[in-house]
Amino acid sequence: MKIAVFPGSFDPFTLGHYDIVKSSMKLFDKVIIGVGHNYEKRGYFSVEERVAIIERSVEGIVGVEVIGFTGLTVEFCKRVEASFIIRGLRSTTDFELERVIAQANLKMAPEITTLFIPSGPLYGYISSSVVRDILINGGSVEQFMVAGVDLPKK
Ligand code: ADP
Repeated sequence: MKIAVFPGSFDPFTLGHYDIVKSSMKLFDKVIIGVGHNYEKRGYFSVEERVAIIERSVEGIVGVEVIGFTGLTVEFCKRVEASFIIRGLRSTTDFELERVIAQANLKMAPEITTLFIPSGPLYGYISSSVVRDILINGGSVEQFMVAGVDLPKK
């Protein structure tokens, strides 16, 4: 069985993330969305809230699981028996950051391969940080989220 981890903060999960998950499902039997967090750095949404938002967003896609994790992504991959890490690329800036992480991960775990998927033409400008900024300032973010997924009020 081909298993991939799609790791990220997902604070919150957007249509851009959803698009990457849909593309990944064409390649893998199982895609585990790993919600990475550490205890010092609190997100805008709690890990439990982020997991719940993602579960609602991917409801009905067979083969997708959502799990929160702390620590190294490669260690999480080993625990869930994934041989692939998926990351989305929106820009050259993303690429430079991602290249370094992917190469460090490859040094630590040569058996795990990172794959980059370019963002869809409609979603490349969407980021969780912009969504958070809009929320903090009282705006509506409905158009950036998977349809029908309500965000917890803050
Ligand atoms: P992180 O803090 O680990 O970068 P994010 O939740 O911001 O976590 O992103 C998780 C992954 O999703 C990253 O690979 C990022 O490049 C990708 N991603 C985020 N937004 C988009 C988007 N609009 N289109 C494609 N990929 C995206």
